[in-house]
Amino acid sequence: MTTDTLATTLEHRKAESSIAVPVTYAQGDGIGPEIMEGVLSILQASGAKLALEEIKIGQSVYDKGITAGIEESAWESLRRTRVFLKSPITTPQGGGFKSLNVTVRKTLGLYANVRPCVAYAPFVHTRHPKMNVVIVRENEEDLYAGIEHRQTDEVMQCLKLITRPGCERIVRYAFEYAQNNHRSKVTCMTKDNIMKLTDGLFHKVFDEIAAEYSDIENDHLIVDIGAARLADTPEHFDVIVLPNLYGDILSDIAAQIAGSVGLAPSANIGDHEAMFEAIHGSAPSIAGHNIANPSGLLLSAVMMLVHINQTDVAATVHNAWLRTLEDGLHTADMFTEGMSTHRVGTRGFARAVIERLGELPKSLKPVRYRSYSSQNTSSQPRLWERKPALKKELVGVDVFLHWREGLPESLGTQLKQCGNNSLGLLMITNRGVKVWPEGFPETFCTDHWRCRFMHPAKGTNISHRDIIDLLTRIEASGFDFIKAENLCNFDGVPGYALGQGQ
Ligand code: NAD
Repeated sequence: MTTDTLATTLEHRKAESSIAVPVTYAQGDGIGPEIMEGVLSILQASGAKLALEEIKIGQSVYDKGITAGIEESAWESLRRTRVFLKSPITTPQGGGFKSLNVTVRKTLGLYANVRPCVAYAPFVHTRHPKMNVVIVRENEEDLYAGIEHRQTDEVMQCLKLITRPGCERIVRYAFEYAQNNHRSKVTCMTKDNIMKLTDGLFHKVFDEIAAEYSDIENDHLIVDIGAARLADTPEHFDVIVLPNLYGDILSDIAAQIAGSVGLAPSANIGDHEAMFEAIHGSAPSIAGHNIANPSGLLLSAVMMLVHINQTDVAATVHNAWLRTLEDGLHTADMFTEGMSTHRVGTRGFARAVIERLGELPKSLKPVRYRSYSSQNTSSQPRLWERKPALKKELVGVDVFLHWREGLPESLGTQLKQCGNNSLGLLMITNRGVKVWPEGFPETFCTDHWRCRFMHPAKGTNISHRDIIDLLTRIEASGFDFIKAENLCNFDGVPGYALGQGQ
């Protein structure tokens, strides 16, 4: 396409609709302003219909003593536009500051972190030239709830929270994403052979929802072997959906082995708002030199265009970017002798993409995006009707103690005295290993003990009052109890791990 035809086409496209979609953007720190400038120039030239509003985040805001790194007034813009294109920020060192990303994700309920990890061989070096994986990571739950306690001298605890609505949202998002993006398989990874209740729920919900998408293949892998296979043969994977922690780790591995950490985009999607950003940081050492690669932010902007259903423009920008890669116009971080033809700066790269708007790549596969405004999961969460258990029965309690006065046998003997006809001592574990009754002398014990009390006639209900009375007797015997965790059956199914850990 000649420049004239391109210009006419773009003008025509701009004139097609005057409705610009409001988008909030932030320039961030370090290389943030220069890559944002490059990206915005490409978006403007592409005919994307955007009404841009700027907010301030990062260093300048932290410097004012605002520990969240975002001004109160910025939330109004984010809530109104519901779309956030964000440059990286420099995270302040030292205590007292909050992670801006975590704050934005949690405040706006951005539950899905979507990270395409694509190889662009031979233009970007990778050992996995066929890799094209999308990691869909749950973004709000799991060990990231930030509920941590020091319970004893020796033991810290972090609560892992997995909820059914959280699993349903992320798993459904992954299948909807697969369906809307011509993907054929969704793989789930958990560690449910060990964490049977938490990861077990994620896996169970995955199986339930997978059954609704008969045209999409699905499978489940234990996350350790899954991660190993991803690192070895990523071309066997398509979409991968994971709980938060595993997703955090695997998405970095996937971006790294695709060879494109500097190019990798991400989207954080919620029911109401969405945030789009490159996965790299603010690279302060190269800031202001016009050498940073704007590609990660540009591909994030492409994801944003798809999200706001400007799919044709998204494809135009993405294909122009692929063509730029192929033509060998590379920023310093991508530059390879023999493969690259011109070393370009941030602005030069942006100009090169603009010059190629309307062109398709020749050897890399051109992208096309399906318009999916009518089925967008992010605006239409199809959560299932909540079905509370018909019968929830309280059948026991795990009492956690801080104790270091002797051997497990002695603790068992003393605690048995605290039991009565409603609640008798069933077992004691230390770090999940049973130490009473019939513990092994070799077992290493800390000062943290989980003591399980249940009704002597197994399965018989107890009352909250029974637990309070038990705790009163334990306290009267001089024990330091840290917490009590109720043991309940839900419609006859135990809602607690049965025995010792594995
Ligand atoms: P970084 O990603 O900024 O830099 C790592 C390396 O990659 C550096 O050598 C850098 O020069 C290079 N690099 C990164 N992006 C590049 C680009 N677009 N073009 C060319 N080279 C690029 O990681 P870091 O050095 O660990 O972190 C720097 C700062 O960024 C820290 O304050 C960190 O907390 C912050 N950070 C912010 C975000 C975010 O805002 N989402 C994410 C990660 C790190």
